[in-house]
Order: sequence, then C-alpha cells, then structure tokens
Amino acid sequence: MADSSQPLVYLVGAGPGDPGLLTLRAVECLAQADVVVYDKLVPSRLLQHAPPTARRVCVTDLPGHHPHQWPHIQRLLIDEARQGKCVVRLKGGDPFLFGRGGEEAEALRQAGIPYEVVPGVTAALGAAACAGIPLTHRDRASAVALVTGHEDPSKPGSLLDWSLLARFPGTLVIYMGIGRLGVIVPELLRHGCAAETPAAAIQWATTGEQRTVTAPLAELPGAVQAAGLGPPAIVIIGPVAQLREQLGWFEQRPLWGKRILVTRPRAQAHELIRRLEILGAIPVLLPTVEVREPADWAPVDRALTALSSYQWLVFTSANGVHFFLRRLRQRGADLRVLGGVRLAAIGPATADALRQYHLEPDLVPSEYRSERLAEALAPHVAGRRVLLARADRGREVLRQELSAIAEVEQVAVYSQVDVVAAEPQVLDALSRGAIDYVTVTSSNIARALDRVLDEPSRERLRSGQVAVVSISPVTSAAVRELGWRVAAEASEYTTAGVVAALVRLAKTPD
Ligand code: SAH
Repeated sequence: MADSSQPLVYLVGAGPGDPGLLTLRAVECLAQADVVVYDKLVPSRLLQHAPPTARRVCVTDLPGHHPHQWPHIQRLLIDEARQGKCVVRLKGGDPFLFGRGGEEAEALRQAGIPYEVVPGVTAALGAAACAGIPLTHRDRASAVALVTGHEDPSKPGSLLDWSLLARFPGTLVIYMGIGRLGVIVPELLRHGCAAETPAAAIQWATTGEQRTVTAPLAELPGAVQAAGLGPPAIVIIGPVAQLREQLGWFEQRPLWGKRILVTRPRAQAHELIRRLEILGAIPVLLPTVEVREPADWAPVDRALTALSSYQWLVFTSANGVHFFLRRLRQRGADLRVLGGVRLAAIGPATADALRQYHLEPDLVPSEYRSERLAEALAPHVAGRRVLLARADRGREVLRQELSAIAEVEQVAVYSQVDVVAAEPQVLDALSRGAIDYVTVTSSNIARALDRVLDEPSRERLRSGQVAVVSISPVTSAAVRELGWRVAAEASEYTTAGVVAALVRLAKTPD
C-alpha cells in the first residue's frame, strides 16, 4: 500500500526491450507497486520486479482497441489510485515520447492525483546504440530530430512538415514509420533529401531478435520490404548511419541470434537467461522441474533440533542451502546453531549459496560430483554423524558411500516436481527446428525434459539436429541414456561453464 506522502501513480519508462535497460528508479517503483498497468511491447520479465501479490494488467486486455483503449487506461489508473493503491504505469521506452504519457499525466492532473514520471531509454537511443550508429558525431551531425512516421504526410492539420524535415541539418529518427516508408521516403526525396543519404532500419532493437537493414535512402523501402522488416522498428536517416559499418558490435557477440532452450526451474533460470542475453542469444524458457517445500518438514525440524549432535552438514545444491537456512530462520534460530558443525558443498554454486549467508564451506571437492564429494569427505567423517540436506529425489551415491563409514541422516529440505505440460509454442519451435541449442543442467532435468517433449522434438535431439549442451559428465550420461547426442559438455560444472561450452560450440564451424 502506498505511503500517503508519495505520489500514487508512477508513469515509468520500461526501456526499449532488453530487460537490462530498465532504470534503477523504475525498479524501485515496481517494487512498491500494488498494480502494474503495462503495454504489450514491455518485456514480461520486467514484471518480476513487482511483488508477486501486485495486480498485473496488460492494456490489451482492457476493452476497445487503440486508440479507444486510452480512456479505459486512464480510468483504471485513476480508480486504482483513488483506492489508495500504488500504481505503476509501465510504458515502452520513455513515457513522454510517442507513448501518450502526456495525455495520461494530464488526466491524472485533472483528477487531482499526484504522479511521478520516470524516464526510460527510448527506442531511438536503444536502436542507435545497438546498431552501432552514433546519433551525433563531430563531423557528421550536430542535431537529432525524433519524428513520428505515423501521421499521414498528406493529412490536413498534420503537425509535421516533411519539406522542412528534408532539410533538417542533422540525423532524422523516425518512430512508427516502418510500414509507411513507401510514402515517407519519396516525400523526403521530393523535398531535396539526397537519394544516397545513408539510412538504416532497426527492428526489435536491443533484443536478441534485433534485425538491421542499411541502404541509401532511396533504396531503403525496397531493402526493408525484401528483408521482411516490420514493426516495431526505428528508421535512422543521415550521414551517421554509415558509421555502422565500422561501429556495429551487437551482431558480433558470440551467441548472437542463437535460440537457446533453458530448462532450469523458472525461479532459478534468471542467471543463465541473463548470461545468454548479454552474449546476444535469444533464451527460450521451458522449465521442466520446479522446486517446492518438502511434503513433510518434520524430519528436517528434528534434525534442526539435534544439530549439535552432527559433526558435518552436507549440501548438494544451492536450493538445499536456501531451503535449509530459511527453515532454520522460520523456526526462530539463527546461524549460531551451525557453530559446531562443519560444512561441505558439492560444487562452486552450492559454496556460493553458503557464502550468501556468510558461511564458508569447510570442504568443496575439486570436481563437482557426488563420488568426489564422498571421497573428499571420507577421511573426515569416519565414525561421525553426518547430515545430508538435499532434494527429495536424486542420486543416492553420497548416502551409500558414506553410510559404510559414518552415521548418515538424510533429510529432504525441498521437493523437486516435474512440470506436467510444456508450453505448446516452445514445443512447436523445437520440433520445427527453430531452436539451436538445448541446455541441460542436471540428470533430473534431462529425464523431465524427455517426459514433456513430443515425438518430433525427441527425434531432433536423438539425431543431433538440435545440439544438446550438458553441465557435467553425470548429466551427459543421463542424456545419452535417453538416446540423445551430447554436442558439448561444460568443463566447469556450473551455469557459467554451460555458457562457455555454448560459446565454444557456436564458434565451431558446422
Ligand atoms: N515511448 C516509446 C515509443 C512508443 S511508439 C519509446 O520511447 O521508445 C512505438 C514505436 O517505438 C514503434 O513503432 C517503434 O518505432 C519504436 N520502438 C519501440 N520499441 C522498439 C524496438 N525494440 N526496436 C525498434 N523500435 C522500437
């Protein structure tokens, strides 16, 4: 609920598409939202910054169609704010550039509702940066005009004078004009713009889907049509557009344009997705398992009560660490109860999870694998009591090996469940060959993936038409058991290792 001294409605720019281009202020506003009203073009991942309990409304779900929708949007903002709710109106790019943010602010002002405007990275800036086209340049352009291409140039009452724009001494950036280039370009040429003026059109700028077409102005409409570019796109006209040849960088990133299936649980997929995006890939999420609270906390609670009777506490996943420590806190205890127990972590990600709580593991095996963990623990645990905190399913190697020499208690601190049905669009993309790589980060995930796939997709994995990248030798063995080929395996058994393996694979000529 909003603090009464704060504005009630935030008109927030969501940036041009890359979720990393949201401002810190936007994140602050989203974090306190009771209601988020967002545009269709806004990347859905940004909504994760809002509390899970916040109401989320996409404007396309409101009655009417553009522009009849606008009164409904304004009504909604006002009604929610009047109920004391903190409302975030999340708009593509910047709210005050071609997004009717001005009209929304006017409506709020008339209704007497306080608001704050949070600027965003507008599409022109995102497109220019990611196409490698500086909008100004000492030798080429000292001014920029941001123009809408939506208005009909022949329409009486148009605010735009294309004869003046044709003589504009600088860079022209046209929003919403990609479908009207057949009218706009002849108009500019007719009024004196040189036919050979460098020009570029950039679609889905700043995202893995970005496509760019460059051509001399007179040829741009034909080139755009031939390439099949459509909205949303930005058109940049002026001598600066030529700089792309030297300054383009976006398409040179190692995973650029590769569609990569991420099969981790939704709540844990973010890190891998972000690493892939930054390298230019188009991550596609298909969670195959989800983690939940264990069916029964009683065994965990008993172990927590008896913690001082154990000499070792062993974690085999970052999830195990988080669920165990959360339960410990829920029961009113704190880290001091771990004072007498030594800690082991199976690998680097698990060790990092412990460090998040300022706990340094006493033991991490040199190779991230149950067998190595058992070997490393063996000299320390003979005749001792060992507590294994883990998922309710998984390999039994550790317990089996340690039970021979130590007193081992194993408790399920979380439960791993298969996702029952995969998103049909993702399965469709996989079976059509529209996915380049499939990442598999555990044996359980491999088996769960197999269960949700349809036969055409499975066949692609079997034949190696889609390259499978696995996190470790154990996971690769599980993948091969399913009859699929493994195209690459991480040498460090972490998500960073998977990404490095993908980069190596992408560099290898087909
Ligand atoms: N307020 C927004 C603009 C809204 S108008 C902003 O500041 O960016 C919608 C137009 O923005 C689209 O027709 C297109 O011209 C442009 N646009 C938005 N996102 C884009 C993207 N990712 N790539 C290219 N153009 C984009």
